[in-house]
Amino acid sequence: MKTQIVLIEDERDIVELVRYNFGKEGLEVKSFERALPALDHLRVHPADLAIVDILLPDVDGLEVCRRLRADERLRQLPVIFLTAKGEEVDRIIGLELGADDYVVKPFSPRELLARVRAVLRRKELPPARKEVIEVRDLRLDSRTHEVAVRGRPVELSSLEFKLLHFLASNPRRVYSREQLLDEVWGRDRFVTPRTVDVHIRRLREKIELRSEEPEYLQTVRGTGYRFVDHPADSGGGL
Ligand code: CA
Repeated sequence: MKTQIVLIEDERDIVELVRYNFGKEGLEVKSFERALPALDHLRVHPADLAIVDILLPDVDGLEVCRRLRADERLRQLPVIFLTAKGEEVDRIIGLELGADDYVVKPFSPRELLARVRAVLRRKELPPARKEVIEVRDLRLDSRTHEVAVRGRPVELSSLEFKLLHFLASNPRRVYSREQLLDEVWGRDRFVTPRTVDVHIRRLREKIELRSEEPEYLQTVRGTGYRFVDHPADSGGGL
């Protein structure tokens, strides 16, 4: 069966562009100018991924994501946001809405396609099977707990490894300190959110070239942290 993409976007040019280019690659795109009909459609016709514009005529993209996450059947649907330049990306992904990625307009169809493929690939791989994570100059092996940066081995404590491995396994997602404590330290923890900051700082000193300008472990102001697996968004352009 063809991969089904739902596109919620009110700019006709973008809809046409995505439809045409995705169609050529064998992806089926069902598009909606408004959010509410798209949500109704999704509840009846499951899709593989949704691409959601932030500014829509009826309900904004953030609310769409919120409603998807609140719906048991749609909770797992991968979402990629389309954002206009100037919209605060931190705010968009920092709301812990569980979006999988975002693409800044103007973007090239090829860039959007690459992001879609990456998100779909990640969804297909059960986390346990990703034994070796390789991202740019960083390599993590969960079988041996060995970590190397730029070809050089790095010594990590087991908690540091767990934290880095968790973030690197979920690239681009923003996690609050509380979420990281739950995921990495577990429920029976007697530590404060500050502990996360301390571990992130140590990890940065070990893996980043310049810990004050981290390439991998980024702070999302007011929210938490995320692991970046690709360099900052270039606008791309058509
Ligand atoms: Ca719009």
